[in-house]
Amino acid sequence: MYQLPPMPPQRTPQRGSFSSNRSGGRSSHGHAGGHRSSGPRPSYSSQGARPHRGGSGGGGGRRFGGGGRGKSRSTFDVAMYINKNPVLVEAEAPYTPTHSFKDFGLWPEVVRAVEKAGITTPSPIQDQVIKPILEGRDVVGLAQTGTGKTAAFLLPTIHQTLENRERVTLILTPTRELAIQIEQELRKLTPHMKLFATVCVGGTNIRPQIAGLKRKNQFIIGTPGRVLDLMERGHINTRFVTTAILDEADRMLDMGFIHDMKTILKDVPKDAQTLFFSATMSPSIEGLVKDFLNDPLTISVRKKEITNAISQDVVRYEHHHKFDLLVTLLGKAEFSRVIVFGAMKHSVEKLSQELVRAGIKADAIHGNKSHGQRQRALTSFKTGKVQVLVATDVAARGIHVDDVSHVINYDLPNTYEDYVHRIGRTGRGSKRGGALTFVPAA
Ligand code: AMP
Repeated sequence: MYQLPPMPPQRTPQRGSFSSNRSGGRSSHGHAGGHRSSGPRPSYSSQGARPHRGGSGGGGGRRFGGGGRGKSRSTFDVAMYINKNPVLVEAEAPYTPTHSFKDFGLWPEVVRAVEKAGITTPSPIQDQVIKPILEGRDVVGLAQTGTGKTAAFLLPTIHQTLENRERVTLILTPTRELAIQIEQELRKLTPHMKLFATVCVGGTNIRPQIAGLKRKNQFIIGTPGRVLDLMERGHINTRFVTTAILDEADRMLDMGFIHDMKTILKDVPKDAQTLFFSATMSPSIEGLVKDFLNDPLTISVRKKEITNAISQDVVRYEHHHKFDLLVTLLGKAEFSRVIVFGAMKHSVEKLSQELVRAGIKADAIHGNKSHGQRQRALTSFKTGKVQVLVATDVAARGIHVDDVSHVINYDLPNTYEDYVHRIGRTGRGSKRGGALTFVPAA
């Protein structure tokens, strides 16, 4: 049995202090520096030793809670995990697009592929960025996952590639899962167009990637570390890149990819079109934009706090009953498709195994699993073969699973951004689920 504590006030002033960079605003024209980094771009072979990766990367995530890592709880405020009166999803004003997909002048095959994919009207980010990208502008798109940002940058890029098959688009993503999803979306949008793409991600055999790169690829999609590795081995030649896209740039920074990103971007020709997509704007992102984008147009479609629409509560636990509480919750009928977040790779794996032993269909994704294992776990979860996916924050980034009934924070997230990102997994599609956060009994 679990017991919920008497509720503290629902919203606290402190919450506002976490939302300073979550402003709304539809679009703004930014002139964040008209120059790329000065001086000639060195070729990657002359870069010398690869910069050390790791460290903070300057992502700027505000820490709170402890996630079981012994961090100070000075800013811990349980009320931040509680929202018992979620606003109705309909509260957000519907967006009226100013274009249809036919208006953009995209190749008819591309428009047909969009229709076939069941996408009827442009989402706000698509409505606003497709035209400037087609015009060749550098763009900063501030948009969360789930806004249709992938198609927003893929559709105009595909069109440009059909106009000129010599174009090469390099897409950098924070995780392998996101890279694979982009490639899947690309394939969906380019049937019979004879365009080639190679996914270059770490944690998987590099040989098939090297083999794939021997073809003439129009798209290279990868994580910064592996892309840089392949550049250093001479399999990716950034001299030919005509479009560089950074997807979830803020997450890449959070994950410590700053040096790799800079090294790669410095090697891309100065006149390449550069597109940045990020859920948040931080000083580090602004720095990159200033250094690598040329007179960019900034489009923001950040939604109002999605957390307002998600029912949230805490579960107080005594240490020795924590696992039993979780099992009790997962036994309830409404917990039909649940993501359980844990702090560490090994604890996530252990928790998943314990759940299986307790008779719950569960699997885990974390960085210690092979790429194949992660994909299998994700597929099992998406198809309903398993009820519970236990995940680390990093492994869960960018994954798209519809109709997640609940997100359970078994371990506390490290930052409020991580919390919002986690619970946003229930906010996909029209159905909103609930988020429960385990907090120690006072
Ligand atoms: P993304 O923000 O790129 O992660 O997109 C999330 C999901 O929205 C993907 O499954 C897309 O297929 C879907 N999608 C993309 N554009 C649209 C659109 N204009 N209308 C409806 N769904 C879309």
